[in-house]
Amino acid sequence: MRKDGIFIAVEVDDAVASDPALAAKLAEVCPVDIFAAEGGALEIVEKNLDECVLCRLCLDAVPEGVRVLKLYEDGAAL
Ligand code: SF4
Repeated sequence: MRKDGIFIAVEVDDAVASDPALAAKLAEVCPVDIFAAEGGALEIVEKNLDECVLCRLCLDAVPEGVRVLKLYEDGAAL
């Protein structure tokens, strides 16, 4: 799944999005609530995307299958 804000896009592979433990981990670590895990299913919260502080906590928590893209830098990956 992928959602785009104005400055930031987030992409999550299906294998991660459908794993309740990984979804919960992402929801827990992001300081600006870009991830939510309702009933075990991952949701990317579109309205919060541009609040991303580039902290990499999501990438550290789930090293494979999550990408934070800087749309203001031609989509360069964080
Ligand atoms: S880099 Fe930080 S603020 Fe941005 S989505 Fe990941 S955890 Fe959230």
